Amino acid sequence: MKFSVLTLFPDQVKNFLSESIIGRAEEKGILNIDTIDIRDFSGNRYGKVDDTLFGGGTGMLMQCEPVYQAFTSIYDADKEEKPHCVFMSPKGSVLTQEKAKELSKYDHLVILCGHYEGIDQRVLDEIVDEDISIGDYVLTGGEVAACVVIDCVSRMIDGVLPNSEAYEEESHMQGYLEAPQYTKPNVWHDKKVPEVILSGNHAKIKEWKRIHGLYDTWKRRPDMLKNISISADDWKQILLIDSEKKDT
Ligand code: SAH
Repeated sequence: MKFSVLTLFPDQVKNFLSESIIGRAEEKGILNIDTIDIRDFSGNRYGKVDDTLFGGGTGMLMQCEPVYQAFTSIYDADKEEKPHCVFMSPKGSVLTQEKAKELSKYDHLVILCGHYEGIDQRVLDEIVDEDISIGDYVLTGGEVAACVVIDCVSRMIDGVLPNSEAYEEESHMQGYLEAPQYTKPNVWHDKKVPEVILSGNHAKIKEWKRIHGLYDTWKRRPDMLKNISISADDWKQILLIDSEKKDT
């Protein structure tokens, strides 16, 4: 999958994505992450790409033309279709696992990062297909947000993780949170790994994980329960876990 990131700070994006799992996937050629410096398209020798706001207001706004030129430099409009363009914005719909899954289906995704006060609306209207926010707060720029999108979309591309199980069983993938996880040693600070987990009985382990995942969802993110149906039997077990925890 190819990502083209339009930004005034390409190094912020490159530095973050060149390490670890995403960096290795790029080295293997599974991902192609390209950064395009909008400043290269300023059209003036000072590299100026922003100006004061019409109608008043503090700060500077990124101008239309450099953003437009940077975008059109990515593809050949005569031969290729316009690639899907996402604008990172606090006004966008908040990123979810489901949205990330949807984005992972594109062969080529363009991610536009604003900075300062943002970007002139007119160029957004012309090139952007959808606005995505990473949460209800305001950042200084879209670069961190773009890295978040690329990171979580990439995990679902074949070959980035060892196998699809590695992400399919995680929090949010099935509509609820993942159960607690454990590794060696079996006992640490007098705390034991739950017996079932060490039993080697895969069916029991799977069921333990499902019920404890539901329990954690109920305790931590009750808002997520409206999207899943929990049987009366499951509730009995969830409440049992709760009473056991209260007793210890
Ligand atoms: N004036 C804008 C905020 C500009 S912040 C407003 O009030 O809506 C500068 C840039 O940071 C934005 O253009 C956007 O690209 C990025 N940004 C800020 N908060 C973000 C968020 N929650 N999610 C995604 N991008 C964000």
